[in-house]
Amino acid sequence: MAKVYDVIIIGSGPSGYTAAIYAARANLSVLMFQGYETGGQLMQTTDVENYPGFEEGILGPDMMEKFEAQARRFGTEMLTEDVTAVDFNQRPFTLTANSGEYRTRAVIISTGASAQWLGLPSETRLKGRGVSACATCDGFFFKKKDVAVVGGGDTAMEEANFLTRYANHVTVIHRRDSLRASKIMQDRAFKNPKISFVWDTEVAEVLGDEEVNGLRLSNLKTGEESTLPVQGLFLAIGHKPNTDLFKGVIDTDKAGYIVPSEFTTTNIPGVFAAGDVTDHRYRQAVTAAGDGCRAAIDVERWLEAQAEAERSTEGNEAGQERRPLRMNRTRNNEKPILTAGKMAELRRESRELRA
Ligand code: NDP
Repeated sequence: MAKVYDVIIIGSGPSGYTAAIYAARANLSVLMFQGYETGGQLMQTTDVENYPGFEEGILGPDMMEKFEAQARRFGTEMLTEDVTAVDFNQRPFTLTANSGEYRTRAVIISTGASAQWLGLPSETRLKGRGVSACATCDGFFFKKKDVAVVGGGDTAMEEANFLTRYANHVTVIHRRDSLRASKIMQDRAFKNPKISFVWDTEVAEVLGDEEVNGLRLSNLKTGEESTLPVQGLFLAIGHKPNTDLFKGVIDTDKAGYIVPSEFTTTNIPGVFAAGDVTDHRYRQAVTAAGDGCRAAIDVERWLEAQAEAERSTEGNEAGQERRPLRMNRTRNNEKPILTAGKMAELRRESRELRA
């Protein structure tokens, strides 16, 4: 019979690797599907200077190499392929990849989100050399420089405002003549003397050989072309959570982000979610890593409660005295993680599984 893992982690960004470190150190058998593109969004980042512990900063790909090595050290098995299908209808769950089917008691979804890009060859060529999709990550490198932000939503306004801390001037380029952003964010941007707007305009080309030195713009109403000299281009045209695989199975919001039911749980007991796939707000390596830790601890406690519920059911069936079920408590011993109702539900599920 095929091996049943305690937990399979889908995705290899900071949340996935952190979950793997915690789960494997808790003696769980862990398999991670790293995906064909391992490492997540940080693989496209140059210097990471805001992740605690790297006082000199570290290159994004180097950081992910360290995350991976640390996860391997504690025995996480890894496969460099994508999961192509999931069956969460019965436990153990079954995950399908090109190399076969894999069975597991629990799953952590940490598939992340992908920044949307314009799709210009010049944009791809200059990524990490002036082109970025994260002002919080890269804004610091544009001290006293002129930069542009593309987009008209809340992210674009937030990024533009944030960038004025460093940049000399920020030009927001939007494809329409009105913003999608909330009123308060618009007002903040309009009032900021370091921000100006270019309306009805798209970026036709990012200029520069080794680094960005300008943009070729095209007015969508008049067709007129112009050049904007900038040293940085920030894309803020939305993110897409990588949840297509779970459509119709795992609850998401209308933008596709997984909505945690409680802590890191999803609507399917035994399936947990962590990192950017649940988070359109913070999107930082450190917040994703923290989430991965939380998910692994939730998995560990859930598996423990499952096992305990099964033992209790067996005890009852054998006519033994019923042992009280241990309630897991938070580190500060404040609040029971498992309510009596939840335990009853687990027992019922366990009985159904054994039937
Ligand atoms: P949005 O989808 O809200 O906005 C994306 C913007 O990018 C739109 O203005 C859109 O133009 C533009 N755009 C999309 N594709 C292209 C393209 N190919 N070329 C040029 N422009 C393009 O995404 P956000 O990331 O801004 O926000 C996502 C969610 O997160 C929202 O619900 C937002 O409210 C929320 N959020 C909240 C924040 C807060 O409360 N502090 C901060 C950041 C985000 P168009 O308008 O023409 O469609």
